[in-house]
Amino acid sequence: MSRVYNFSAGPAALPEEVLQQIKDDIPDWNSTGMSVMEVSHRSKDFIELAARAESNVRELLNIPVEYKVLFLQGGATLQFAMTALNLATANESVDYVITGAWGKKAAREAGRFCNVNVAADAADSRYSHIPNETTWQKTTNAAYLHYTPNETIGGVEFHFVPETDGIPLVADMSSNILSRPIDVSQFGVIYAGAQKNVGPAGITLLIVRDDLVDRARADTPTLLTYKAFAESDSMINTPPTFAWYVTGLVFEYLQRCGGLAAVEKINERKSNKLYAAIDKSGFYSNPVSLDCRSRMNVPFILADAELDGKFLAEANDAGLTNLKGHRSVGGMRASIYNATGEDAVDALVSFMQNFEQRNG
Ligand SMILES: *Cc1c(COP(=O)(O)O)cnc(C)c1O
Repeated sequence: MSRVYNFSAGPAALPEEVLQQIKDDIPDWNSTGMSVMEVSHRSKDFIELAARAESNVRELLNIPVEYKVLFLQGGATLQFAMTALNLATANESVDYVITGAWGKKAAREAGRFCNVNVAADAADSRYSHIPNETTWQKTTNAAYLHYTPNETIGGVEFHFVPETDGIPLVADMSSNILSRPIDVSQFGVIYAGAQKNVGPAGITLLIVRDDLVDRARADTPTLLTYKAFAESDSMINTPPTFAWYVTGLVFEYLQRCGGLAAVEKINERKSNKLYAAIDKSGFYSNPVSLDCRSRMNVPFILADAELDGKFLAEANDAGLTNLKGHRSVGGMRASIYNATGEDAVDALVSFMQNFEQRNG
């Protein structure tokens, strides 16, 4: 197997041992004589797979019993609408804290269904900081407060959980779920498209507190209600069975790694190394405030943007792929999710140092 170091923001790298297991399982999964793609989602084998995936993710995230775990489709983007449809009436107000491009999109979509109040927006700093929580202009009696714990494009991550005084807190954790332990009881709803840090594209993980499951407005299409999925073990219709299977394998892999406390230590070490290399050079820089730099997505720019193309081409030749920054911000971005190992970060740091010596 000839594998590159993959710094893609998503769909992103998967653990090699998971890929190997998929390969071994394909022709004859679970002694069914079929691949997992060919079995009914109503079969005993698949129902067991689904139950195991749920119980494993409950264990990993220490999810309290009064929360449902749902497996949905439509990506995180569909949740931008589902959040509003399930949690607010057309006349209610909802609060959004915008610290990057994804939060901005989430607020815009919710605005089609209810009154969106932007409680804070870091656009004036080009999304390089989190506005101090004491300055947030929150609505009294908002139906919920939505934020994006990790902004994948700008590389801004919350290292604290906002205080909402009983208002349900909704978090788009697409790019940092399972990267560290969290206290689920602080949240009303957590959702995450799988393809960053959990599994393949096509499945979305959603964790919802029981009292929020059945509040959707009456005209919400069935498939867009939390309730339909909660009542059917996420099998209201044919689920994305292959993505679900891979996601389950990733949960098992994370358990073998020692759980999220162990995973967090590695992620801290990886990101510290990369930021240290950027900060001590006079050639690379990262614009994000020190207190909210992302451990998952590390954007950086070169002192001379004319060298971007050369940097990317040489990195690619060295087996370091997908480092081009998002088209909206330019420069570079190294996404270092769970499956991108410390060896990848080490290789990137030495490449960057070498490139700086030759071009700086
Ligand atoms: C990638 C991403 C999304 C969009 O996810 P889709 O699954 O493509 O809809 C939304 N929010 C965040 C934070 C993301 O990183």
